[in-house]
Amino acid sequence: MHCPDCKTSMLILEYKDIELDFCPTCKGCWLDEGELEQMLAGRTAAMQQLDWTGGVKGRRRCPRCLKPMHVVPMPNDGPEVDVCPAACGIWFDQGELRAAIRSQLADAQASPIVETLREMFGTEEEGERNTK
Ligand SMILES: [Zn+2]
Ligand SMILES: [Zn+2]
Repeated sequence: MHCPDCKTSMLILEYKDIELDFCPTCKGCWLDEGELEQMLAGRTAAMQQLDWTGGVKGRRRCPRCLKPMHVVPMPNDGPEVDVCPAACGIWFDQGELRAAIRSQLADAQASPIVETLREMFGTEEEGERNTK
C-alpha cells in the first residue's frame, strides 16, 4: 500500500494484534476501520461519533479504495484526520495518531500507548497535544 500523502510504499508495523501501515518518509500512518478502537481497548463510544462522510473533501485519496478522503475532526477535541468516506480507515499525519489517543483516553491510559508508538515510529515531536 502507498502513502496517501507522499506515495512512498508503507511499512507494516505491529502493535499488539493491530497492523499499522506506517510511512517512513512523512511518518504518517494508516489504521483500518476498527483498529483505532482496538488500540483504545474498545472505548468506542466517542469513536462512533466520528463522521465518516462529513467534513470537507481533502486532497488525499484513500490508500485502499482511492476515493477522495474527507477531513473531519475527531470527537473530544481530537485532531482533524483524513477518513475514507467508504469507511476503509483513517489516515493520521505525523503526531496525529498520538494526539488522537490522548484525546480519547485519560492520561494514565494514553501515556503507555503513546510511548510505545513513539518508539515504534522513531519520532520525537513537539506540540503533540495541539497537532492539527
Ligand atoms: Zn508518506
Ligand atoms: Zn477507502
